[in-house]
Amino acid sequence: MISVDEALAEILSHVRPLEPEPVPVLDTMGRVLAEEIVSDINIPPFDNSAMDGYAVRAVDVATASPETPVPLRVTGSVAAGYVADTSVKPGTAVRIMTGAPLPEGATAVVPYEDTSDFDRPKEDRLLEPAGQIEVRQPVAPHDHVRPAGEDLRLGELVMAPGRVIRPQEIGVLASLGRPTVLVHRQPRVAILATGDELLEIHEPLRPGKIRNSNEYTNAALVTRTGGMALRLGIARDAKGDLVSKIRSGLEQGADLFLTSGGVSVGDYDVVKDVLGTEGEMQFWQVNMKPGKPLAFGLLAGSVPLIGLPGNPVSAMVSFEQFARPAILKMLGHTDLAKPTVQAVLDEPVTNSGRRGFVRVMVSHKADGYHARTTGEQGSGVLTSMSKANGLAIVPEGTYRVEAGATLTVQMLDWPEGTCA
Ligand code: AMP
Ligand code: MG
Repeated sequence: MISVDEALAEILSHVRPLEPEPVPVLDTMGRVLAEEIVSDINIPPFDNSAMDGYAVRAVDVATASPETPVPLRVTGSVAAGYVADTSVKPGTAVRIMTGAPLPEGATAVVPYEDTSDFDRPKEDRLLEPAGQIEVRQPVAPHDHVRPAGEDLRLGELVMAPGRVIRPQEIGVLASLGRPTVLVHRQPRVAILATGDELLEIHEPLRPGKIRNSNEYTNAALVTRTGGMALRLGIARDAKGDLVSKIRSGLEQGADLFLTSGGVSVGDYDVVKDVLGTEGEMQFWQVNMKPGKPLAFGLLAGSVPLIGLPGNPVSAMVSFEQFARPAILKMLGHTDLAKPTVQAVLDEPVTNSGRRGFVRVMVSHKADGYHARTTGEQGSGVLTSMSKANGLAIVPEGTYRVEAGATLTVQMLDWPEGTCA
């Protein structure tokens, strides 16, 4: 039986980042950039005022103080979005608003607050601009001026391929005038449940039947990871049905298959068989609990199929360990690991000796993170996942961990979860 780390390495060795596609900038949230962004302009494009005040020649007001104010003649006014029609000459100033381009001849801006104009009510200033002002504080050249290129310089490398797009990147791309950018394509992830016992979720329960929850959990996990869920429904435990659904997924351009169930040692566990005939099985069974009966293979030569176990908790834990990193890699991400914290166990846990993933609720206390199990740990008890915000990892070969010991906890939801 291979280890979790070996299984992940094997899966990732068969997965490549998908090709770039142009996407409207506002739709690129969370996507991974697939091009170099080089600035073809200066941002800001021109020297502009950082304050409302007066554009002056710093040399004219070098001696200004409240006791010895320097008088200047006001020759014009410029608001954001306009260009001054007068330049600043010795002994003059131009009224200027935040964001307006610095008039020719000006070397600094004196804020309103440091001029006699500040004594006048704002309404008066608007009605009748001052013809003359007194400057009460000196300024040095460049004071209160945002120089052209302060944010980005013409020719500067702004973002390298691989950058994950957040709102701030979208803003930078917008200021560079990029309506679309190249990002890696999202994988189409085919989701297939298997089992004669499964009902669609709108069907009433009948004897021997349960509802198909895995398809929903998996579709939600795919969506959250950034993939596009392609739901293929339920395949019955018969080779023919599974084969035709897999072929339909391939026809619809699936980049990855996620099946659930049918990979253990039961009589009707057909996923393993079909992997053998429709493709190539790469491995089966991983040294972990829950999630041991995971299968991995390639369809049509290269399309990966991750055969998740049927038990709902096992399926989810296995998704997080194997499917999530595969989808992230296809999306172009290089950071594939889930965030972890070190947490002190508030109660003992027992383990099978395989790598254990214990459902825990992590909370932050004065001395750091603490973890408590979410009760019944059966691999069919999906509410143990629902109550959890993390998976405490018990190393291989360990059978019991005492209260007070520290474990690495893979966070399912942090920082959005309730632990922080
Ligand atoms: P299997 O590996 O197919 O034997 O499935 C293991 C367990 O998971 C069985 O109890 C199944 O009923 C259950 N199971 C399989 N698929 C699903 C599903 N899609 N939704 C909920 N439970 C499932
Ligand atoms: Mg089954």
